[in-house]
Amino acid sequence: MNFETQAIRIQNEKSQYLEHSTPLYLTSGYVFDDAEDMRASFADEKDRNIYSRYSNPNTSEFINKICKLEGAASGFAFASGMSAVFSTFGALLNTGDHVISCNSVFGSTQSLLNNVLPKWNISTSYFNITGIDKVEGLITGQTKIIYAESPANPTTDILDLEALAKIAKKHNILLVIDNCFASPYLQQPIKWGADIVIHSATKLIDGQGRVLGGVVVGPEQLINKIYLFSRITGPALSPFNAWVLSKSLETLAVRVDKHCDNAIKVAQFLEQHPKVNFVKYPFLKSHPQYELAKKQMKAGGCIVAFEVKGGLDAGRNFFNTIKMCSLSANLGDTRTIVTHPASTTHAKLKEEERLATGITDGLVRVSVGLENVDDIISDLNQALN
Ligand SMILES: *Cc1c(COP(=O)(O)O)cnc(C)c1O
Repeated sequence: MNFETQAIRIQNEKSQYLEHSTPLYLTSGYVFDDAEDMRASFADEKDRNIYSRYSNPNTSEFINKICKLEGAASGFAFASGMSAVFSTFGALLNTGDHVISCNSVFGSTQSLLNNVLPKWNISTSYFNITGIDKVEGLITGQTKIIYAESPANPTTDILDLEALAKIAKKHNILLVIDNCFASPYLQQPIKWGADIVIHSATKLIDGQGRVLGGVVVGPEQLINKIYLFSRITGPALSPFNAWVLSKSLETLAVRVDKHCDNAIKVAQFLEQHPKVNFVKYPFLKSHPQYELAKKQMKAGGCIVAFEVKGGLDAGRNFFNTIKMCSLSANLGDTRTIVTHPASTTHAKLKEEERLATGITDGLVRVSVGLENVDDIISDLNQALN
């Protein structure tokens, strides 16, 4: 079956009520026939639900879909994207191990690498998204994971997934990709050689700004380690959120198609506006990695980055003059969201640190939503003018 069909037709078996749409299983536990049934279940000799910290029919349906859509054998679902990221590191790394990460990863992921993992003497070295030729030089005897995202936040720079996977394979290091900005509809990193794919389901997968969630998929043996770690540490996705997210996947393809249609129109509008220095959108011909984006993505995604002329003050003024679009930190929502990183989300960074990841004073990030594109453009236009 094709992507859209799988996202709709992969479903749990029907109950005695023959429901058309999977019901919500709000149950924390499950019952056993007798002592032998319970013993065998706890000894993992049976594939069945025991307790909803381990598994639940709604989380299983959600995981099964993501596995099929990403081309993975196995997966586990989490209460948030960050618990998915943390549990992957927690399960796969030991004291003294080393991580190589792209320097433009999600802010909380970077804080995890810089401030939390060092508690266990786990260190991280960084590379630039467009400088993967430097990665081999960072490898040590302790390097266990190479970690990256593409497209990058907020600059929309593109990582060469296939080239990075070759480096990881050659040195027998795991490649873990956070695929949240693309969604499984636009890009499947496992196809290019990634070992593990992580999503914050809070973004395009929910896509309607309602619930938090996360998911990790990959080969059976690695996911089993992550599962055993997580069933003890307890970051499981709630059945209700899993039910919402599994329904959301049914509309992922139509939503993301529309996000991309709107986003390219917004990018083209901004590109010819006299108050704009430059626009970055992966499917604009002017994007420095247009060819690479075309190779590994189906369309350009929902994020458009651009630089307002006039630096920090102009960026802040633009942000404060927006009327319809939301001023918020989220992305991948039906509602268009504008952020000005230099005066808001990234204001606590030093200027050199901001510039190292491409966040200039006037840079604006737009997560283009599903409103009529004329209304989105008209709001951006009045704020620019
Ligand atoms: C939001 C986000 C996360 C974290 O997800 P939460 O669901 O907010 O915990 C991780 N990676 C990327 C790329 C994100 O955008």
